[in-house]
Amino acid sequence: MQHGQAVLVLRRLLARIRDVMAGNGSAQTRLARIVSIIAKDMATEVCSIYVRRAGDVLELFATQGLRATAVRRTRLRVGEGLIGEIAAKGRPLALSEAQTHPNFVYRPETGEEVYHSLMGVPILRGGRVVGVLAVQNVNVRQYTDEEIEALQTVAMVLAELVANGDLVGRDELSPVEGVGMAPMRLEGARLNAGLGIGVAVLHKHRFTIRRLVAEDTREEHERLRKAVAEMHGALDNMLRASAIAGTGEHREVLETYRLIAEDVGWLRRIGDAINTGLTAEAAVQKVNDDIHARMRQVSDSYLRERVHDLEDLANRLLQHLLHGDDAVIDLPRGDADFVLVASNLGPAQLLDYPSGKLKAVVLEEGSPNAHVAIVARALDIPVVGQVRDALVRIESGDPVIVDADHAQVLVRPSEDVRAIFRRSQMARDLRRAQYAALKGMPAVTLDGVAISVSINAGLLLDMQHIAESEVDGVGLYRTEVPFMVRSELPNVESQRQLYRKALEYAGDKPVVFRTLDIGGDKMMPSWDHGKEENPAMGWRAIRVSFDRPALLRQQLRALIQASVDRDLSVMFPMVAEVEELRCGRRLLQDELERERARSGGAPRSLRVGAMLEVPALLWQLDRLVEEVDFLSIGTNDLFQFLFASDRGNYRISERYDSLSPVLLNVLRMVVEHCRAAGVPVSLCGEMAARPLDAMALIGIGFRSLSISPPAVGAIKMMIRSLDVASLGSYLDLLCAGRQASLREKLKAYAQDHGVLV
Ligand code: PEP
Ligand code: MG
Repeated sequence: MQHGQAVLVLRRLLARIRDVMAGNGSAQTRLARIVSIIAKDMATEVCSIYVRRAGDVLELFATQGLRATAVRRTRLRVGEGLIGEIAAKGRPLALSEAQTHPNFVYRPETGEEVYHSLMGVPILRGGRVVGVLAVQNVNVRQYTDEEIEALQTVAMVLAELVANGDLVGRDELSPVEGVGMAPMRLEGARLNAGLGIGVAVLHKHRFTIRRLVAEDTREEHERLRKAVAEMHGALDNMLRASAIAGTGEHREVLETYRLIAEDVGWLRRIGDAINTGLTAEAAVQKVNDDIHARMRQVSDSYLRERVHDLEDLANRLLQHLLHGDDAVIDLPRGDADFVLVASNLGPAQLLDYPSGKLKAVVLEEGSPNAHVAIVARALDIPVVGQVRDALVRIESGDPVIVDADHAQVLVRPSEDVRAIFRRSQMARDLRRAQYAALKGMPAVTLDGVAISVSINAGLLLDMQHIAESEVDGVGLYRTEVPFMVRSELPNVESQRQLYRKALEYAGDKPVVFRTLDIGGDKMMPSWDHGKEENPAMGWRAIRVSFDRPALLRQQLRALIQASVDRDLSVMFPMVAEVEELRCGRRLLQDELERERARSGGAPRSLRVGAMLEVPALLWQLDRLVEEVDFLSIGTNDLFQFLFASDRGNYRISERYDSLSPVLLNVLRMVVEHCRAAGVPVSLCGEMAARPLDAMALIGIGFRSLSISPPAVGAIKMMIRSLDVASLGSYLDLLCAGRQASLREKLKAYAQDHGVLV
């Protein structure tokens, strides 16, 4: 058959199928009519439709040619027989001698022994197999690629009837069963610790395509042309917007994207699909489904990225074709707890979901300092990032356990595994209740030593914890967060408002504002940071501030204005030399005088501190303590520089222990120095939020800790069960020893002495 003629035949067939689908009768009767039409039109003796049912099974629902008594009786497991193989792999199969195929299984009730050839295609819905459409011939027949394509197109139209819930309940078609049934463990990176259990909700656009078969093919081509033009326009706008923000990687990505959008091969395939009689949106969807199926087999990472981009573009194109009418974001059914799966999320997007039911987040991308991780920390939602192809491997509705503590995601776990994690969650809930009961009780050890517990904050969202958990203040306010989440730099007024609000939330409790710590792993979208070999040791924090003094001056101005008639504490990050601190103090004084001259207003008091996170400062302690009003130790950075161990590199994250005598001895030296000089010292690195580490810190002399808000309960509980005096002398002994890590010894100590860590 000539190509043009074949296209005409297919178009006619689709139109007839559409009429039957829209006609009267039960879904089952319509399906029976459809198989006979297909068999006749495609000149095959057999045409059968198998529908995927709960329990990993494909059931024969309609047939022309096989014995009628086999309908609703013949069942094959996914992976079993040729039909099962088509479903398992989600790929077409065409065999001229089907019975010689190693996977062929004979089902006597069907009477299929006389048929030699078989061609089958998966019936896909949203990239998932919901059934199999197969034709068979008595004679040995070579099916052409065109015929396979045609059968795929028919299957696509049929998907609507199979999956609309008339044949089998929608619940049965839910992805828990069937092809994606096997439990799966995915690894990623811990972006925010914790455990979350729920059903998967995919954060991506899904489209319900109601019109599959076209009335007028020319009109569909025109709709496609217009949508492509609109999409190009939108992409150009994005490009222009990014051009304003400078060059850099962001722009390159967009430009590549734009090039792919012009990919003629992709557009031609969509055009071809329209020619077969599909509507423009159905054609895009069909090409998208093909890409989706292919994606499962591609291992080359570059190609995968490209395929990913194409899929993404198809979604964009659908948005333009459907003008958002049919674009729906997948949302959990009923009020089930859910786990959000996304490629990446903006900080605001996370807040769009109902927070009470959102139990965890799984991201294909993301780093610990990604904006979404920062917001998730404030909301206490566990996050595992860098989970490869999470959106492809996890299906909507899959039960998911996010064990962020161990950076793993368990998809469709067995009942035993679920039970174990449920127990673990119950134990956590119990602990939370115990922590809540500590509300109002002071953080004082058994032997009467008071420990000041403050929180680290970066969002106003964090500030609610001040009242909730009754902490002593904010030991570290990371001011860079608003700079990281906006496309432009916040001006003095908007900064002033933000800092003022933070102070208001804090009431009469102190807030230590740290000046901008951008650079390194904390990038601002509005700035071209340039590429650096070693960004953590590069142009960051106070170094950027001194090279761009206007930025720092504006921030100091905003801080001063926000603190009129209140106490102001300012802390400089990444100080490596005492002179840098002096320089910061001078700038602050200048701004203070300027503000006095301008408005006459000034903070009630001013305290200037430094973060101790660069080892060089350890050898300048004598001078440092003379220059500062307080010190705060940033062990996240100090640790990475002491051990030359990148804090964001997961390969080495377990190699060195924060409970090493090396670090503890250094920290003790600082504490003693500060005590002798009468300079308040606190510790605001992540280690202070881990109960066992915090126990050791108190043991070596710390009396002030600043921690992430969700850790407050656990730390308070540890403090209230600790006897400092006895731990102190034990730690003296341990720190003089040669062990690389004191973790096991300290764990045993905690257990023996009833310290709740
Ligand atoms: C630190 O380095 O320990 C710290 C608290 O600062 P940040 O994590 O923001 O670098
Ligand atoms: Mg730091």
